[in-house]
Amino acid sequence: MICPICKKNNTILIWNKKLRSGKNKWTKKKHKILQCKNCDLVFLEKKNKHLEDNKIFRKIFDGSNSISKYYSFNRPRERFKLKKIQCYINFKNKKILESGCGAATNLDYLKKNAKLTAGLDSYIYQSHVMKNHKFFNSLSQLKKSKEKFDIILSLGEIEHKFDVKNFIKILIGKLEKNGFLIFRIPNFDNIYKFILNNDFLKYDYRVSHNYYFNEKSADFLFNKLKLKIFVKTGLHEYDFNHLLEYFKTRKRVKNYKKIYSKKLIDITNSHLEKYKVSTSLLYILRK
Ligand SMILES: [Zn+2]
Repeated sequence: MICPICKKNNTILIWNKKLRSGKNKWTKKKHKILQCKNCDLVFLEKKNKHLEDNKIFRKIFDGSNSISKYYSFNRPRERFKLKKIQCYINFKNKKILESGCGAATNLDYLKKNAKLTAGLDSYIYQSHVMKNHKFFNSLSQLKKSKEKFDIILSLGEIEHKFDVKNFIKILIGKLEKNGFLIFRIPNFDNIYKFILNNDFLKYDYRVSHNYYFNEKSADFLFNKLKLKIFVKTGLHEYDFNHLLEYFKTRKRVKNYKKIYSKKLIDITNSHLEKYKVSTSLLYILRK
């Protein structure tokens, strides 16, 4: 099978089992997941297109695609990521676009100091987002617009795309000359996989992810698109106590005891981020 990123025909089969197809649901049939031995990219043999649509995806995987669900589920998670990004980038007086903005909790937060805020997502969020921001309800609508942006955010999105290269090319086209393109990507080479292996993968592999990136494959993709790395760092979204509970129960964790202190957790997380074995990777790129 040809790798969709590097086009080499050198892949190995790493999964041929059921895939998670919802909150606590798995497919009836087996699905194949392959890894490219050249660029390290992991990808679904039969990529899904319909789950690119956040209207469908959020309903199936988050339980609901409503505004209130977005607020309760995404807002705290997104705010943590945004704070990390703000350590590297100044959003003041900038024209900002967030692709996959949902109910615009990030844009609401950024709006007061920004020059312009705009979001791209399913039409189901349009009337809500448009109260305070510019809105694009499709990639083609964005492509046609004359607007360009200083900062484009795409957080936890590219792994869902059907044609990831084309998606990023469109975003590059909307970027000002000295602008920043920012991706948060789940990291395939994370400490949970290394410790738990299949007890992690059976929950992590899902029909909505067409791609699974690690540092090597993400570097390869961005290099191929002639993007320059301004910042590359790990982003660890859970604390070590969470991993310990998962280790004990071998199941996805809902609640866990805070055995170790925040100070110790912060140090551990910074190490996981440094060695890129964190749950996500953060890339800040330039043209
Ligand atoms: Zn490849």
